[in-house]
Amino acid sequence: MRKALIAGNWKMHKTVAEAVELVEALLRDMPDAPDREVVICPPFTALSPLHALLANTPLLLGAQDVFYETQGAYTSAIAPQMLTELGCSYVIVGHSERRAVFGDTDAIINRKLHAALQAGLRPILCVGETKTQRDAGKAEQIVVGQVQAGLADVGGAQMAEVVIAYEPVWAIGTGDTATSADAQAMHATVRATLDDLFGGAVAETVRIQYGGSVKPDNVDELMAQPDIDGALVGGAALKAESFLRIIGYRA
Ligand code: PEP
Repeated sequence: MRKALIAGNWKMHKTVAEAVELVEALLRDMPDAPDREVVICPPFTALSPLHALLANTPLLLGAQDVFYETQGAYTSAIAPQMLTELGCSYVIVGHSERRAVFGDTDAIINRKLHAALQAGLRPILCVGETKTQRDAGKAEQIVVGQVQAGLADVGGAQMAEVVIAYEPVWAIGTGDTATSADAQAMHATVRATLDDLFGGAVAETVRIQYGGSVKPDNVDELMAQPDIDGALVGGAALKAESFLRIIGYRA
């Protein structure tokens, strides 16, 4: 049985004061022991104050990116150990905005994923096709290729720590969600790819999140799909009310 994982990706939103305010609001109304994992990924600047606030709470901390080296002359980069020191248990790698805006390639993302695992962080590997690629009938090919490349040289045992997030790029921040049937179809394709790479026993245990305009009014239907094991949430994670409703989805 896969435990669902709901993750909030705050992107470049929230000052420290705003981050603390949002977390206090979430903690006020969150169940003490939810049957699903809940992670928030604030900007790096808010990790330290939130680490203190989240001690002994059901809310986990994650980061939005990581560099693959452990230290050195890499101006602006954040090493995996810097994240574990601040209480992060998850880190997003390969988000489409990192790919498109910052030039993260599959090879870079694979190095980040390995570095995260090495440091004891659980990577959330984001994959997804653009609208042009989908319209050209290449969605599956793109997503399968990103999964294969992102997971290059990862061992089956390490997959217990890895989460995949299928995020069609055209659905991110647009309000344009994939239908639950289309999302389920791609999740099944991702799971079949994991089966090819690692075998059925591993493929059945890996959690595959859906991301792309997940909202209170579509989360229940998405989460009811057999291969959707959680959600990676952007915009709707920025307000306590909507994120709490998503955390409390009824599948
Ligand atoms: C995201 O940033 O990963 C995302 C899915 O954003 P949104 O929910 O706003 O589409």
